[in-house]
Amino acid sequence: MSGAPRWTVASVHEALLAKKTSARELAQEFYAQIEQRNPELNAFLALCPDRAYAQADRVDAIVAQGKPLGRLAGVPVAIKDVISTEGVRTTCGSKILEDYTPPYDATAIERLERAGAVIMGKTNCDEFAMGSSNENSAYGPVRNPIALDRVPGGSSGGSAAAVAAGLSVVALGTDTGGSIRQPGAYCGVPAMMPTYGRVSRYGLIAFASSLDRIGPFATNITDAATVMSVIAGHDSNDSTSAALAVPEYAAEIEKSVAGLRIGIPEDYFGAGLDAEVKNKVQAGITLLERHGCKRVPLKMPHTDYAIATYYVIATAEASSNLARYDGVRYGLRVQGNTLMEMYRKTRERGFGPEVKRRIMLGTYALSSGYYDAYYLRAQKVRSLIARDFAEAFEKVDAIITPTAPTAAFRLGEKTADPLEMYLADIYTVTGSLAGVPGISVPCGKSAAGLPIGMQIFGSHFGEARILQLARGFEKAGGFSI
Ligand code: GLN
Repeated sequence: MSGAPRWTVASVHEALLAKKTSARELAQEFYAQIEQRNPELNAFLALCPDRAYAQADRVDAIVAQGKPLGRLAGVPVAIKDVISTEGVRTTCGSKILEDYTPPYDATAIERLERAGAVIMGKTNCDEFAMGSSNENSAYGPVRNPIALDRVPGGSSGGSAAAVAAGLSVVALGTDTGGSIRQPGAYCGVPAMMPTYGRVSRYGLIAFASSLDRIGPFATNITDAATVMSVIAGHDSNDSTSAALAVPEYAAEIEKSVAGLRIGIPEDYFGAGLDAEVKNKVQAGITLLERHGCKRVPLKMPHTDYAIATYYVIATAEASSNLARYDGVRYGLRVQGNTLMEMYRKTRERGFGPEVKRRIMLGTYALSSGYYDAYYLRAQKVRSLIARDFAEAFEKVDAIITPTAPTAAFRLGEKTADPLEMYLADIYTVTGSLAGVPGISVPCGKSAAGLPIGMQIFGSHFGEARILQLARGFEKAGGFSI
């Protein structure tokens, strides 16, 4: 990195108004950085300079006219490659969509651009967002900018790495079981999964529709809050998006955290948790206590079942969602002598091993004779996990846990054992199943210099509260990037 101070949403805004830079110059500066760092990091799969410069010029024209600027005017943004962008190749990290260019923008993209954001390109990710290390991408892994021999986490590894390396000011990722929060933790940047239904999924290419969410990566909490206010809110194109007013989060979060009750579930601090991670998260909790938060010990007894439940439900939904890639309507087609052969060859050639594993698992869980034993039972356990959260939020304002059991692992370290890889999500999938919001904030580094993340869960649509805690932690010196 250049050593120059990082750009933030606020500093971009000020610099544009003071005419210290233009949106076009800023885009050029970021593209130069991307050109320099991306060959090593592999964070971006596609760049869209035409679109970026056209948007930058629109912003510069507004500055020249002295008209009010949008909240994200001129801010360079990176987008995970599972979110549709009109005219910009969107692969989902898969060979099956290698040549797919969406004919429309996702709602989140439309809202970002309406606020003046400059979309720079699409970021690498695990294929169809299935993974915890970014090693399941058909386009090669992403390297963690903090330690190049380590994974950036997954599945939104490219977005996390882009923000951590200063290749964009903010980024969008998606989270189904941890894919925003865990890479945020591994790359040392704040990363937020909103409540299910808070941000429209229109244009998000589906993995598991009852779990998928879009959310931001940023280098400070205020920027994450601003992006949230821009992308959240009801959308008639997504019937699961909530018709609730969206707070001006960046204003809400300056409130003091004194008096807030933070729940600490013992179930998240047991066997399997790395000692350094445990120490840093506990130190983070202590810092919040010193600023007036009240610690409340909690029990969330169904936590142990979350991984199994998640991997039944997520794979079942994936097996159904991915049925659409049949060589007829989208992406890759491998010819065959019969229609069946064409389907088979297309899917065999187009999907990678992890995606195939999940389609098989999910198809099995949904098959007649096994449905009751797996899918139905998993749905029941999902309700119990949601009830653990509902009961906890009768007693506390937020729940604090580690984001992941360890810091970033080495490339290749877990690829041979899918179960071990799945355990990287042990603390994040619970909130995914319950539908509640969660944010990962950096809370220090391991002795080896690897970032560690602290996760804050909130109640449904309680994003303001957890952003307020995250901001309180940041103001107290909990982290700075
Ligand atoms: N790592 C988890 C999985 O592989 C979560 C992925 C995600 O949140 N998209 O399913």
